[in-house]
Amino acid sequence: MTRIFPDDHGAGFSTRAVHAGQRPDPTTGAIMPPIYQTSTYAQESLGVHKGYEYARGKNPTRECLERNVASLEGGQHGFAFSSGMGCVDSIMKLFKSGDHIVVGANVYGGTFRLFDKILQNFGFQFSWVDMRDSQRIADAMRPNTVAVMLETPTNPLMQLTDIAVAAQIAKKASAITIVDNTFATPYLQNPLQLGADIVWHSSTKYLNGHSDVIGGVAVVNDDDLAKRLQFALNSGGAVAGPMDSWLTLRGTKTLALRVRQHDSNGRAAAAWLANRVGEQQVFYPGLATHPQHELAKRQMRGFGGMVSVETGSKENANQVVSRVKVFTLAESLGGVESLVCQPAGMTHASIEPARRLEIGITDGLLRFSCGVEDVEDIIADLEQAFQGL
Ligand SMILES: *Cc1c(COP(=O)(O)O)cnc(C)c1O
Repeated sequence: MTRIFPDDHGAGFSTRAVHAGQRPDPTTGAIMPPIYQTSTYAQESLGVHKGYEYARGKNPTRECLERNVASLEGGQHGFAFSSGMGCVDSIMKLFKSGDHIVVGANVYGGTFRLFDKILQNFGFQFSWVDMRDSQRIADAMRPNTVAVMLETPTNPLMQLTDIAVAAQIAKKASAITIVDNTFATPYLQNPLQLGADIVWHSSTKYLNGHSDVIGGVAVVNDDDLAKRLQFALNSGGAVAGPMDSWLTLRGTKTLALRVRQHDSNGRAAAAWLANRVGEQQVFYPGLATHPQHELAKRQMRGFGGMVSVETGSKENANQVVSRVKVFTLAESLGGVESLVCQPAGMTHASIEPARRLEIGITDGLLRFSCGVEDVEDIIADLEQAFQGL
């Protein structure tokens, strides 16, 4: 658990992205935080130390990242993990056997796998709910519900949940609200300000942004919740290493610049695709035809670089992914380079086929992560890849 510096909340987003959580190194004046590649810390005498005892609990490089992302999310406490899944796994350790959690039906495939294939064996109860409709969240609440867990926009169908309404429903039932903000990033959406209690990220994606680190970050406001999460982090030990923390911190410095470009490329790609294959086949909250476009405008400050497209068949999807040159066929998203994937066979392969179809993830669905390249090159690449379709 790392509390932000008191003066890190005042400035604008881009300023905080560059400066929050970091001060020039007091020993040397080094402008960048050192990579404290250490597992332990010397103690002066019994019980006398500088606040650092063992690096699973605390590492100064990790603290810089934790403060930085906490500030970007408008929260007080940050926690950096070794992966997004390590992060949500530690969050779930706030709960116990017999607890009930209401989860979005369309959350990240790995989150579904962790809950459905592992945590269910430990006595956790899950209700999978289509959270586009807030009433369904309210209907799913039980006396033993401890949390509402949601992801918005969802991966890969770009469905939205009204965070403020979901948080109100949870609060009324004394449950907490947990939001996976990986797709939107804190530049476009701040769940804590909408009433959520925990916001978390796969920092592997936009926060780090350069496809060279696996990581996760959580941010909370409440001091008591922060203590409990720090206990889970230190007990489970899925912490971010100093080198990965440092790289991710380098990434977050340019988050505003990058997301602006991802967002404008995403809008352009979505508009081109809608024109090419029809608006109904394109999933992007920035399109006026997206059923939740008004909600997107209300709770987000932009729409981001993720665009999904229904190409109609696996053959069509295969043509596109084998022809692209600027886009690379790969899992993951949110890096500076453009990527494309087929969720049914790649990111969401661990979901049973029948359930996949039920939630709309067909074999013809492609998910594009628009990078920060020149928009002309992205559109030209789509043009040649969709030729003849
Ligand atoms: C990638 C991803 C995760 C999992 O994070 P890892 O860093 O891969 O463990 C969770 N949620 C979303 C939305 C993701 O895209």
